[in-house]
Amino acid sequence: MKVLVINCGSSSLKYQLIDTDNDTVLAKGLCERIGIDGSNFEYKTDDGKKISRLTEMKDHKDAVSVVISALTDADTGVVRSLDEVDAVGHRVVHGGEHFKKAVVVDDEVIKAIEDVSDLAPLHNPGAITGIRACRDLMPSLPHVAVFDTAFHQTMEQEAYLYAIPYEYYEKYKIRRYGFHGTSHEYVSDRTAKILGRDKTQLKTIVCHLGNGASISAVKNGKCVDTSMGLTPLEGLIMGTRSGDIDPAVITYIMEKENLTGKEVIDILNKKSGVLGMTGISSDFRDILKAVNEGNERAKMTLKAYSLRVAKYIGAYAAAMNGVDAISFTAGIGENNSVVRKMICEHLTFLGTRIDDEKNESGSDERIISKEGPGPVILVVPTNEELSIAMQTVELVK
Ligand code: AMP
Repeated sequence: MKVLVINCGSSSLKYQLIDTDNDTVLAKGLCERIGIDGSNFEYKTDDGKKISRLTEMKDHKDAVSVVISALTDADTGVVRSLDEVDAVGHRVVHGGEHFKKAVVVDDEVIKAIEDVSDLAPLHNPGAITGIRACRDLMPSLPHVAVFDTAFHQTMEQEAYLYAIPYEYYEKYKIRRYGFHGTSHEYVSDRTAKILGRDKTQLKTIVCHLGNGASISAVKNGKCVDTSMGLTPLEGLIMGTRSGDIDPAVITYIMEKENLTGKEVIDILNKKSGVLGMTGISSDFRDILKAVNEGNERAKMTLKAYSLRVAKYIGAYAAAMNGVDAISFTAGIGENNSVVRKMICEHLTFLGTRIDDEKNESGSDERIISKEGPGPVILVVPTNEELSIAMQTVELVK
């Protein structure tokens, strides 16, 4: 089946047309600065055709029209018409407690996504706009919403509740939701396949280390704990996000710097993490360069980053009463052998040993630990778009 996967932000739209019969990306690209001067359109096919041009897109509907035109164009297209496309899969960041798995979109689903939008005000409105635009322009196709939070909905209350008055959960649904669920699900499934194990008999820790980063404990195919919370700010140290922090730090900064709570949260989201600690960059390639040049703060930041990940791995091994596999994924998890090694140096108490040669041999799917006791350590490149396409097919076939 051919599935168009759509990932909408407030002013951007990323897309991939995927043939799920052979896991091929027929075409992909993005629309940027939608509704802003200088809108830009990028398009690339698997056989090397490319478009990159400034194209006026005053709203998401314009953007979807531009995508459809490119996909069906006589020269650049990869399908003759939309009749060859079977379904559209939409990434939605927050499904709240309402959505425990992907669903076929109808008016009620859109209303329910709107209802949880105040939990993800930066993300959900863009997704809704994109879904509406796609339904208007492709009314005959089934549309499926796939939620970043859904995979984590199997967590028990003891894992997702904060130790604050229970009434805030009852009144406002304040709890840990977790994000990157599509990636955690895909990578934990792949891990079981690579190891030739039944996923319902496996305890896996997935480390999704990208610019945004989260970690999850997946026991017998189900998520039992994850590091992100009500919002994607909690947990690991990230590119620009602080991750876990004593909440009293927020009011302390507010008083000292004469800032509002919202301004401090903005600092914790956009100016903290690796960027804030090093003062150099949020990008790990820049941090590694600084480390190699002898920058002490960059060295300390890498140590702090690795220590935080290792502490979560220890915690999740305890949460599952054991761990069979630890999988690294996303930009840093897939590509940065230095960070993987620094994290794994904290884990020798589990019996496991990283194999330096395997660790340093590229970014492909593979085992990177030595044979012997302890959990197997793997690199498993994530593929959120393919996962969305597969979940879409599952629902519409
Ligand atoms: P993501 O959000 O998954 O795209 O990950 C972004 C992060 O991955 C950035 O910090 C990049 O520095 C890092 N990254 C991506 N590619 C590489 C690479 N080839 N080598 C080292 N780090 C990389």
